[in-house]
Amino acid sequence: MTTDQSGSGGDKRSESVSLPMKDPEMSGIQLCPVCHGKMRQTAEICPHCGAEKHFGATHWEMIRFTLGGLVLGILFTVVTRAGWAVGAVACAACVTIAFIVGQSRHGHRWLK
Ligand SMILES: [Zn+2]
Repeated sequence: MTTDQSGSGGDKRSESVSLPMKDPEMSGIQLCPVCHGKMRQTAEICPHCGAEKHFGATHWEMIRFTLGGLVLGILFTVVTRAGWAVGAVACAACVTIAFIVGQSRHGHRWLK
């Protein structure tokens, strides 16, 4: 009575254990700050929610900042009763400052 199990053939199929393989798709992937969907790092528009990458202020924000600067310049001219030459310079300075402030206020943003 010998229990000889040689030749029965061992099952070696369990060798191909699913290793935690590094998904090559994971590199260069970023998450959309709007919908948190995955997209390419180089993508400018989110394929999930359509959010667009913006740098700096939008056109509408720049218009508002510029108009605000212009209003400040006009107010300055009216309040100080300065001449129109001085007023024009004040307006130009205020618009320039407003433009710079408006641009520096915003970095990269994702807007829908
Ligand atoms: Zn998105």
